[in-house]
Amino acid sequence: MAPEARVIRVGDIDVTALLDSVVLCDARQFLPLFGQEMLLSYGDAAEAPLVRLPTTCFLARSGSKNILFDTGIGNRGRSGEAMGYLDRRLREIRVAPEDIDLVVNTHMHNDHVGWNTVDDERGTAVPFFPSATFLFQAAEADHWLRPERIDQPGHQHLRQCVMALAEAGKAKFCSADESIDRQINFVSTPGHTPGHVAIGIYSAGERAMILGDVTHYQAQLDHPEWSPVWDTDPKQSAATRQRMFEELSSSGSVVAAGHWPYPGFGRILQVEHTRIFQAV
Ligand SMILES: [Zn+2]
Repeated sequence: MAPEARVIRVGDIDVTALLDSVVLCDARQFLPLFGQEMLLSYGDAAEAPLVRLPTTCFLARSGSKNILFDTGIGNRGRSGEAMGYLDRRLREIRVAPEDIDLVVNTHMHNDHVGWNTVDDERGTAVPFFPSATFLFQAAEADHWLRPERIDQPGHQHLRQCVMALAEAGKAKFCSADESIDRQINFVSTPGHTPGHVAIGIYSAGERAMILGDVTHYQAQLDHPEWSPVWDTDPKQSAATRQRMFEELSSSGSVVAAGHWPYPGFGRILQVEHTRIFQAV
């Protein structure tokens, strides 16, 4: 059965969680040094050594604009990849692809840019959201779109879901200190990738943070140093994660964590020496 869309209100802005896909990953592979400990202390024994990793995208309705944050894994089903269902999730809430005004990618990994484009009948990548402008970070482009990276095996998404949009004049490459609109900002959070950004929403005295890949699993609340192999710079990502968890628990901001159990909305609370997640 399709998961129900979950919506939270942040001041004047509605944020809807849209589950694109769920994959099972072997903790001993993505966390070689600590995977076994993670499975023992935090894993679901029935699924060990696998850990469930959802990919959730978030749609914000801000003023009259629909802004989509990350686009999941897409529908190409490249080898070893899951299929994504963001298209269905949008249909279920009666949002058509042409209703999306802005797409914001927190970084350029394949599970975050997938639905930016689909292949037409000739196999050409075309924008899935025909009216949208696509915002990327210039620092991501500087890292990922270099000749030595763009054609590496497993990097087809860079040409299909980023370059194709740049060539169509639909992409804008931003710096992290620009604003997305009056109430929504990028938050520089490097480490997972060099130009990774979270998204800060500040509206009518309320705040929320779309975390992107600052974190992949809740065990990192206790162990921010448990950086998965997907982090480009594991030391920097651990420092960023620690800083963000501290800020978010002291500000009481609502978080939207796309790889935590769906829908990933909640607060990070500091209770004595432990950090806990309280879903909302
Ligand atoms: Zn991811």
